[in-house]
Amino acid sequence: YADSALYEAKKSGRNTLHFFSPLLQQKLEEEAVMLERLHHAIHQQQMSLHYQKQWALNPLTQDVHEIGAEALIRWIDPVHGMITPDKFIPLAEKSGSIIPLGEWILKEAFTQLKSWQDDPQKRHWQLSINISIKQFERDDFISMVQELLQSFQCDATKIRFELTESLLINDLKSSLRKIYALTKLGISLSIDDFGTGYSSLAYLKRLPIHELKIDKSFIRDLASDHADVILVQTILGIGKRFGLDVVAEGVETEEQYQRLRDMGCRYFQGYLFSKPTPPSLL
Ligand code: C2E
Ligand code: MG
Ligand code: MG
Ligand code: MG
Repeated sequence: YADSALYEAKKSGRNTLHFFSPLLQQKLEEEAVMLERLHHAIHQQQMSLHYQKQWALNPLTQDVHEIGAEALIRWIDPVHGMITPDKFIPLAEKSGSIIPLGEWILKEAFTQLKSWQDDPQKRHWQLSINISIKQFERDDFISMVQELLQSFQCDATKIRFELTESLLINDLKSSLRKIYALTKLGISLSIDDFGTGYSSLAYLKRLPIHELKIDKSFIRDLASDHADVILVQTILGIGKRFGLDVVAEGVETEEQYQRLRDMGCRYFQGYLFSKPTPPSLL
């Protein structure tokens, strides 16, 4: 962006004020407005966490049962309505707002877990929380998590952090140290959107992770695209050999579910089973 803006500025001569193309300018202005709103959103209680249940197959009965849920953030802006995380999480990462937002997410999620622990029906549930690269990279990430665990008094062995693989490989040595520290606290690790990043499989042998999540882009055309069948089989095979749980996300149809079961998948998440909901509706 900067380069092309500079190029345009040079091209149009010294006396011009048109440093940016109108489209780029508009994009930057929109981003600035969005950032300003994002900044206030936490304090004005516009953020909430929804939860999508995760399901496990009982191979004997072929029934599924709930084993926990993934926390997914929702932003309801009083003027613009619901804004999806794909739109604001990247912006929050770019601007640094993800740090206070990420801490808020952890507190909110820990409070939820605590309440499940007092509910006989949900006592065994595990809670998956998405962690942003910018959050994980911080030097104080582990101590922050440790302090929150202590003050919220929740069972760390029920907590699963979802990380994307790009994040782990950037700085494998530091990731390794942090992941060991989390494991020591009792928290388990899941690789989200597995297979979609620029990944090196080498980290699988180095990192004590517990779960792979098959990205929904591999599930979507499972019934018609043989390449997706091969990819999903491969991921299930990797999981099996490394002793990791493999969760299929974005399961929407009976046919996808049937195929996944036939391939030996045991854990599921998707609209076919349940949509993300406010915690009161779980
Ligand atoms: P993700 O962690 O891979 O989450 C899965 C996404 O798939 C969620 O979108 C979920 O609502 C959606 N989904 C679940 N089942 C289905 C299905 O059957 N079909 C389809 N088409 N979609 C399904 P959502 O909630 O919009 O979140 C998008 C992404 O935003 C997440 O991807 C995650 O990367 C990020 N995100 C969401 N909440 C948080 C958060 O609390 N913290 C951070 N750092 N990132 C978050
Ligand atoms: Mg996730
Ligand atoms: Mg995912
Ligand atoms: Mg994703």
